[in-house]
Amino acid sequence: MARDGQEGGSVGVVNLLDGLAKVVFYAGAISFAIGLIVLMYTLLGGGEASPEAIARNAEMFSKFLLIGGIAGSLSAAYLFYGEETAGFLILIVGGALSLAQIWAPLIAGQSAEKMGSVVGALATGGYVPAVVGIVAICLEMSSRMRLRMQQGSKADQLKFGKGVKEERDRRNQFMGKCWQLPYCRKFVRERCPIYHARRTCWKERVGCMCEESVIRNAMEGKLIPSDLVAAAKYIPYNNKLTPNQKAERCKQCIIYNEHQKHKYQLLIPAALAIVVGAYVLLREPVGGAIKVALGQANGVITKITFTEDHPSGVAQRITDTSSTGVGGVIPYHEIIMVVLAFVAVAYAIKFVEFLIFKLKI
Ligand code: SF4
Repeated sequence: MARDGQEGGSVGVVNLLDGLAKVVFYAGAISFAIGLIVLMYTLLGGGEASPEAIARNAEMFSKFLLIGGIAGSLSAAYLFYGEETAGFLILIVGGALSLAQIWAPLIAGQSAEKMGSVVGALATGGYVPAVVGIVAICLEMSSRMRLRMQQGSKADQLKFGKGVKEERDRRNQFMGKCWQLPYCRKFVRERCPIYHARRTCWKERVGCMCEESVIRNAMEGKLIPSDLVAAAKYIPYNNKLTPNQKAERCKQCIIYNEHQKHKYQLLIPAALAIVVGAYVLLREPVGGAIKVALGQANGVITKITFTEDHPSGVAQRITDTSSTGVGGVIPYHEIIMVVLAFVAVAYAIKFVEFLIFKLKI
């Protein structure tokens, strides 16, 4: 009864939080949209306005954008937690705004110089959503990995051995053979030719979960020689099914699923190491290429605005990373590379998941 009361209480708290998050999300989205629309409108059509009027507009509506971005992104991350695309969408919106200093002067054209405050407001409005997006992606990926490491394939993909309990007498040996995994039942194992021949069921394409004769022989107490070569002769051969049909059986088996979980645990760190290694190796050349591309954008901006680039200008801040500190420059190419590395990690994890739990190689 007390337990029921406790559960009812926690459901009530969750509902309350959900309701609150929805209100914050809608309010944040409206505030964000107002800020974004007005700032973009100013950027596009504010050429005639005085710099003071533009700065006033930017100051007022940057608050809408900033507060809306913080509230909207945090509440969206909470409400859509577990949705694969939520983090990516938040990151795309936040990332695009954060890089306003690259694209906004192109839109502003000849008014770019006096639009500095609007461009700054757009960029500032994107920082928090970009970080929230990255954190949401990391949390989603880590919970996804944890689930896959614990459960492997989804339950509805398993047909053979569904509902079989883990055996306590078996150690779950990492990358072990079928008889070293927790679903090898003692009473079958003792009379199983695969065990006595020290083979694995997924290589022989017959096993205790899918091949009736293995279970029947165990039930009938058929003795299997303990000699490896002699025992191998007792491994049944199913000639009614094609190799593909047998492979399909393995893919739906709880024992093979355990094996796949181990492969996943092995491949995830390897995939992460490849991405980190690629980042370290490619940081200089790719970073340089991004800088060159940004430099070209700088040239376009200078041409459009008919302005000479100077150390405090927008274009200079895009490409120059030689100084740091207050009022210093922003290393956009580094930020872009770190964001790309995060996206690469997310896709590497998804790719491993696809190989192991979809293709089941
Ligand atoms: S086929 Fe089944 S009983 Fe035989 S060794 Fe493998 S898991 Fe154990």
